[in-house]
Amino acid sequence: MKVIEHINNSKKTLFSFELLPPLKGHNIGGIYRTIDPLLEFNPSFINITYHQEEVVYKKHKSGLLEKRTIRKRPGTVAISAAIKYKYPSVDVVPHLICGGFAKEDTEYALIDFHFLGINNILALRGDPPKSMRVFIPEEEGHSHASELVSQITRMNQGKYLDEEMENTTATDFCVGVAGYPEKHLESPNITSDLKYLKEKIDAGAEYIITQMFFDNEKYFSFVRNCRETGITVPIIPGLKPITTLRDMNILPQVFNIDIPEDLVKELNKCKTDEDAFRTGIEWSINQSRELIRFGAPVVHYFTIGVSENIRQIASAVF
Ligand SMILES: Cc1cc2nc3c(=O)[nH]c(=O)nc-3n(C[C@H](O)[C@H](O)[C@H](O)COP(=O)(O)OP(=O)(O)OC[C@H]3O[C@@H](n4cnc5c(N)ncnc54)[C@H](O)[C@@H]3O)c2cc1C
Repeated sequence: MKVIEHINNSKKTLFSFELLPPLKGHNIGGIYRTIDPLLEFNPSFINITYHQEEVVYKKHKSGLLEKRTIRKRPGTVAISAAIKYKYPSVDVVPHLICGGFAKEDTEYALIDFHFLGINNILALRGDPPKSMRVFIPEEEGHSHASELVSQITRMNQGKYLDEEMENTTATDFCVGVAGYPEKHLESPNITSDLKYLKEKIDAGAEYIITQMFFDNEKYFSFVRNCRETGITVPIIPGLKPITTLRDMNILPQVFNIDIPEDLVKELNKCKTDEDAFRTGIEWSINQSRELIRFGAPVVHYFTIGVSENIRQIASAVF
């Protein structure tokens, strides 16, 4: 089923989560061990992230640096297919990014998903690789997620890049996009960010999943601002429970988000990462309960490969 159908068919808040493909060299078993404990909470869908190639430099004994391009977490397409067929009751939502893809590559990826019977995509621009500060699109690629959404919408109408092709099969993807309650880090202000978010919806996206936030007021005001901008699609809150003490400093840096004062106070009382892990669970349970009371269509959890905290949150909330 498509994500939008799950939402439209349900009268209550749904549960979903996001997984990262394993690091290169590791087995898919870790993915199943993350999913299995969460199945009892009936996840409607599972998202699988996509990671662009990174440039790394290997230092040789001679002192010379060798430039290498590697993908640390390959396998999004295969993992999506494996999950779809291992867990027939759960839908899978692979992420598709602009970074590293020419339009032709995007078309091939979409053809693969279509043939695999996967009809959900989360369309993203992607972050710049760690070694770069700015996002640089491929020569024949997309600069913004809205362009990727448009390409998928055209394929849903049977229009492929080669316009001379005849009797093509239309794909049938339900497309979601990312939204930022505390604004995207490159965006000059919230108004500008919302304008471009609306472009993604106008291009054919059917729902939004938000970046993580720790203060529900940020989500409530984001929803209000979206509605005032004319964005009417469902807005799914994304939550990441704190797992270590370092999260307090790392998450704001990486994701351009605030940690509210009350949570900082609680984390400052923690002596170990185990204490922080428990605090993260409690905070997330309270956030989830309030989001459900608000009527959020789904509460979506970023697992980062750890499911014990999500299991405890889901058992308290769903
Ligand atoms: C739920 C979720 C899942 C994610 N999953 C992944 C993943 O799997 N892999 C990954 O690499 N990253 C992932 N990301 C991170 C995301 O790729 C980054 O935040 C990226 O920097 C922006 O992606 P976007 O799709 O929001 O980009 P866009 O919507 O293209 O926006 C990027 C920036 O450009 C601006 N902008 C948009 N359109 C225009 C325009 N036409 N002209 C000028 N400015 C414009 C926006 O305001 C914003 O500041 C995820 C983020 C979220 C919230």
